[in-house]
Amino acid sequence: MNFAMALDYQSCIDCKACEVACKEENGVQLGADKQRIWVTQSEKSIFGEPFVVLHPSQCNHCQDAPCVDVCPTGASYFAIGGIVMSNKETCILCRGCMEACPYDARFVDDTHVAVDKCTFCYDTRIVKGEMTTACQATCPTKVRLFGDLDDEEGELVQLLKHRKFYVLKENEGTVPKLFYLLPEHDMNYAMNSVNEETNIYTWDEFKPLIEKAKTKRSSQWQDIQ
Ligand code: SF4
Ligand code: SF4
Repeated sequence: MNFAMALDYQSCIDCKACEVACKEENGVQLGADKQRIWVTQSEKSIFGEPFVVLHPSQCNHCQDAPCVDVCPTGASYFAIGGIVMSNKETCILCRGCMEACPYDARFVDDTHVAVDKCTFCYDTRIVKGEMTTACQATCPTKVRLFGDLDDEEGELVQLLKHRKFYVLKENEGTVPKLFYLLPEHDMNYAMNSVNEETNIYTWDEFKPLIEKAKTKRSSQWQDIQ
Protein backbone atom coordinates (compact mmCIF):
# COMPACT_ATOMS: atom_id res chain seq x y z
CA MET A 1 0.00 0.00 0.00
CA ASN A 2 1.17 3.53 -0.81
CA PHE A 3 -1.66 5.99 -0.33
CA ALA A 4 -2.01 9.12 -2.46
CA MET A 5 -4.58 11.43 -4.03
CA ALA A 6 -5.24 12.87 -7.48
CA LEU A 7 -7.01 16.21 -7.80
CA ASP A 8 -8.95 17.20 -10.91
CA TYR A 9 -8.59 20.83 -9.92
CA GLN A 10 -10.38 22.33 -12.91
CA SER A 11 -13.60 20.85 -11.51
CA CYS A 12 -13.28 22.62 -8.15
CA ILE A 13 -16.05 25.16 -7.53
CA ASP A 14 -14.76 26.27 -4.08
CA CYS A 15 -18.03 25.25 -2.43
CA LYS A 16 -16.16 24.36 0.83
CA ALA A 17 -18.03 21.07 1.20
CA CYS A 18 -14.71 19.21 1.58
CA GLU A 19 -13.50 21.59 4.30
CA VAL A 20 -16.71 21.21 6.27
CA ALA A 21 -16.75 17.42 5.86
CA CYS A 22 -13.14 17.21 7.03
CA LYS A 23 -13.83 19.25 10.14
CA GLU A 24 -16.91 17.21 10.97
CA GLU A 25 -15.17 13.87 10.41
CA ASN A 26 -11.95 14.67 12.24
CA GLY A 27 -13.12 17.04 14.95
CA VAL A 28 -11.01 19.87 13.58
CA GLN A 29 -11.29 23.22 15.33
CA LEU A 30 -13.60 25.77 13.79
CA GLY A 31 -12.05 28.92 12.34
CA ALA A 32 -10.77 29.84 8.90
CA ASP A 33 -7.10 29.46 9.85
CA LYS A 34 -7.66 26.02 11.44
CA GLN A 35 -7.85 23.81 8.39
CA ARG A 36 -6.61 20.40 7.38
CA ILE A 37 -7.64 21.14 3.79
CA TRP A 38 -8.21 24.37 1.91
CA VAL A 39 -8.56 25.88 -1.58
CA THR A 40 -6.11 28.49 -2.90
CA GLN A 41 -7.20 30.98 -5.55
CA SER A 42 -4.95 32.63 -8.14
CA GLU A 43 -6.10 35.18 -10.68
CA LYS A 44 -4.95 34.69 -14.30
CA SER A 45 -6.03 35.98 -17.69
CA ILE A 46 -6.33 34.49 -21.18
CA PHE A 47 -6.25 37.04 -24.00
CA GLY A 48 -7.26 39.75 -21.56
CA GLU A 49 -10.15 37.73 -20.09
CA PRO A 50 -9.67 37.26 -16.31
CA PHE A 51 -10.33 33.93 -14.66
CA VAL A 52 -9.54 32.26 -11.36
CA VAL A 53 -7.63 29.00 -10.89
CA LEU A 54 -8.66 27.04 -7.82
CA HIS A 55 -6.20 24.62 -6.24
CA PRO A 56 -7.66 22.39 -3.52
CA SER A 57 -4.82 21.47 -1.18
CA GLN A 58 -3.81 19.78 2.05
CA CYS A 59 -0.82 17.83 3.41
CA ASN A 60 0.96 16.19 0.47
CA HIS A 61 1.90 13.10 2.51
CA CYS A 62 5.40 13.54 1.12
CA GLN A 63 7.33 10.32 0.56
CA ASP A 64 10.48 12.06 1.80
CA ALA A 65 8.83 14.20 4.46
CA PRO A 66 11.01 16.84 6.19
CA CYS A 67 8.39 17.30 8.94
CA VAL A 68 9.07 13.74 10.13
CA ASP A 69 12.83 14.29 10.13
CA VAL A 70 12.79 17.36 12.34
CA CYS A 71 10.32 16.15 14.99
CA PRO A 72 12.23 15.59 18.26
CA THR A 73 9.60 13.37 19.90
CA GLY A 74 8.43 11.10 17.09
CA ALA A 75 5.02 12.80 17.16
CA SER A 76 5.36 13.27 13.42
CA TYR A 77 5.75 9.87 11.81
CA PHE A 78 4.89 7.72 8.81
CA ALA A 79 1.96 5.35 9.28
CA ILE A 80 1.39 2.28 7.12
CA GLY A 81 0.96 3.23 3.47
CA GLY A 82 3.23 6.25 3.89
CA ILE A 83 0.52 8.41 5.47
CA VAL A 84 2.22 11.18 7.46
CA MET A 85 0.67 11.51 10.92
CA SER A 86 0.87 13.96 13.80
CA ASN A 87 0.33 12.52 17.29
CA LYS A 88 -1.43 14.97 19.62
CA GLU A 89 -0.30 13.09 22.75
CA THR A 90 3.43 13.29 22.11
CA CYS A 91 3.61 16.66 20.31
CA ILE A 92 5.38 19.27 22.47
CA LEU A 93 4.42 22.15 20.16
CA CYS A 94 7.98 23.07 19.25
CA ARG A 95 6.64 23.87 15.74
CA GLY A 96 9.70 22.42 14.01
CA CYS A 97 7.45 20.52 11.64
CA MET A 98 5.53 23.66 10.74
CA GLU A 99 8.78 25.38 9.79
CA ALA A 100 10.05 22.36 7.87
CA CYS A 101 6.89 21.90 5.77
CA PRO A 102 7.21 23.72 2.42
CA TYR A 103 3.44 23.49 1.88
CA ASP A 104 2.28 25.24 5.06
CA ALA A 105 0.11 22.19 5.65
CA ARG A 106 0.21 22.19 9.47
CA PHE A 107 -1.48 24.38 12.04
CA VAL A 108 -1.73 24.60 15.80
CA ASP A 109 -4.81 22.93 17.24
CA ASP A 110 -5.40 25.02 20.36
CA THR A 111 -7.94 22.54 21.76
CA HIS A 112 -5.37 19.76 21.99
CA VAL A 113 -2.37 22.09 22.27
CA ALA A 114 -0.66 20.24 19.46
CA VAL A 115 0.05 20.47 15.76
CA ASP A 116 -2.64 19.10 13.46
CA LYS A 117 -2.82 18.31 9.74
CA CYS A 118 -4.56 16.11 7.16
CA THR A 119 -4.29 12.38 7.88
CA PHE A 120 -6.09 11.08 4.77
CA CYS A 121 -8.74 10.03 7.35
CA TYR A 122 -6.32 7.32 8.50
CA ASP A 123 -7.86 6.76 11.92
CA THR A 124 -11.50 7.32 10.98
CA ARG A 125 -11.61 5.32 7.74
CA ILE A 126 -8.42 3.76 6.43
CA VAL A 127 -7.69 1.55 9.48
CA LYS A 128 -11.26 0.26 9.11
CA GLY A 129 -10.55 -0.85 5.57
CA GLU A 130 -12.38 1.98 3.82
CA MET A 131 -10.73 3.35 0.69
CA THR A 132 -12.08 6.86 0.63
CA THR A 133 -11.64 10.09 2.58
CA ALA A 134 -14.32 12.43 3.90
CA CYS A 135 -13.30 15.11 1.40
CA GLN A 136 -13.48 12.71 -1.54
CA ALA A 137 -16.82 11.32 -0.43
CA THR A 138 -18.32 14.81 -0.06
CA CYS A 139 -17.03 16.68 -3.12
CA PRO A 140 -20.03 17.30 -5.42
CA THR A 141 -17.84 17.69 -8.53
CA LYS A 142 -15.60 14.66 -7.91
CA VAL A 143 -12.34 16.63 -7.69
CA ARG A 144 -10.54 14.12 -5.46
CA LEU A 145 -9.59 10.48 -5.94
CA PHE A 146 -7.84 8.73 -3.04
CA GLY A 147 -6.11 5.43 -3.74
CA ASP A 148 -3.12 3.12 -3.65
CA LEU A 149 -0.12 3.80 -5.89
CA ASP A 150 0.98 0.17 -5.52
CA ASP A 151 -2.23 -1.07 -7.15
CA GLU A 152 -1.54 -0.86 -10.88
CA GLU A 153 -5.10 -1.93 -11.70
CA GLY A 154 -6.68 0.41 -9.16
CA GLU A 155 -8.67 3.50 -10.07
CA LEU A 156 -5.96 5.96 -8.98
CA VAL A 157 -3.10 4.52 -11.02
CA GLN A 158 -5.40 3.95 -13.98
CA LEU A 159 -6.34 7.64 -13.83
CA LEU A 160 -2.69 8.71 -13.57
CA LYS A 161 -1.90 6.52 -16.58
CA HIS A 162 -4.48 8.37 -18.64
CA ARG A 163 -3.97 11.94 -17.48
CA LYS A 164 -0.87 14.12 -17.28
CA PHE A 165 -0.24 15.76 -13.93
CA TYR A 166 2.13 17.86 -11.84
CA VAL A 167 3.04 18.13 -8.18
CA LEU A 168 3.58 21.28 -6.12
CA LYS A 169 7.01 22.64 -5.16
CA GLU A 170 8.82 19.72 -6.72
CA ASN A 171 12.17 21.49 -6.21
CA GLU A 172 11.82 20.98 -2.44
CA GLY A 173 12.64 17.28 -3.02
CA THR A 174 9.86 15.99 -0.79
CA VAL A 175 8.27 13.73 -3.45
CA PRO A 176 4.71 14.83 -2.69
CA LYS A 177 1.72 12.54 -3.24
CA LEU A 178 -0.95 15.02 -4.30
CA PHE A 179 -1.20 14.78 -8.08
CA TYR A 180 -2.76 17.76 -9.86
CA LEU A 181 -4.39 16.53 -13.06
CA LEU A 182 -3.73 18.79 -16.04
CA PRO A 183 -7.05 19.85 -17.63
CA GLU A 184 -7.54 17.84 -20.82
CA HIS A 185 -10.04 19.68 -22.93
CA ASP A 186 -9.06 23.31 -22.40
CA MET A 187 -5.36 23.75 -23.16
CA ASN A 188 -5.51 27.51 -22.64
CA TYR A 189 -6.76 26.95 -19.12
CA ALA A 190 -4.28 24.12 -18.63
CA MET A 191 -1.23 26.11 -19.69
CA ASN A 192 -2.31 29.20 -17.80
CA SER A 193 -2.88 27.31 -14.58
CA VAL A 194 0.77 26.24 -14.30
CA ASN A 195 3.94 28.32 -14.39
CA GLU A 196 6.94 28.02 -16.69
CA GLU A 197 8.93 25.92 -14.24
CA THR A 198 6.18 23.34 -13.68
CA ASN A 199 7.15 19.87 -14.84
CA ILE A 200 4.27 17.97 -16.41
CA TYR A 201 4.51 14.20 -15.87
CA THR A 202 3.10 10.95 -17.16
CA TRP A 203 2.77 8.09 -14.68
CA ASP A 204 5.66 6.21 -16.32
CA GLU A 205 7.89 9.23 -15.77
CA PHE A 206 6.89 9.84 -12.14
CA LYS A 207 6.64 6.26 -10.90
CA PRO A 208 10.46 5.79 -10.59
CA LEU A 209 10.63 8.86 -8.28
CA ILE A 210 7.91 7.38 -6.08
CA GLU A 211 9.57 3.96 -5.98
CA LYS A 212 12.98 5.41 -5.12
CA ALA A 213 11.54 7.49 -2.26
CA LYS A 214 9.48 4.55 -1.00
CA THR A 215 12.58 2.35 -0.91
CA LYS A 216 14.36 5.02 1.12
CA ARG A 217 11.53 5.60 3.62
CA SER A 218 9.22 2.60 3.91
CA SER A 219 11.29 0.98 6.69
CA GLN A 220 10.07 3.90 8.87
CA TRP A 221 6.38 3.21 8.25
CA GLN A 222 4.75 2.28 11.58
CA ASP A 223 1.65 0.19 12.21
CA ILE A 224 0.19 2.46 14.90
CA GLN A 225 -2.65 4.99 15.01
S1 SF4 B 1 3.08 18.46 3.11
FE1 SF4 B 1 4.18 19.25 4.87
S2 SF4 B 1 3.18 18.26 6.64
FE2 SF4 B 1 2.61 17.08 4.82
S3 SF4 B 1 4.16 15.44 4.70
FE3 SF4 B 1 4.85 17.12 3.37
S4 SF4 B 1 6.23 18.30 4.68
FE4 SF4 B 1 4.98 17.02 6.07
S1 SF4 C 1 5.51 20.65 17.03
FE1 SF4 C 1 4.99 18.57 17.73
S2 SF4 C 1 4.85 17.30 15.89
FE2 SF4 C 1 5.87 19.23 15.31
S3 SF4 C 1 8.08 18.76 15.48
FE3 SF4 C 1 7.45 19.63 17.47
S4 SF4 C 1 6.90 17.83 18.70
FE4 SF4 C 1 6.97 17.12 16.57
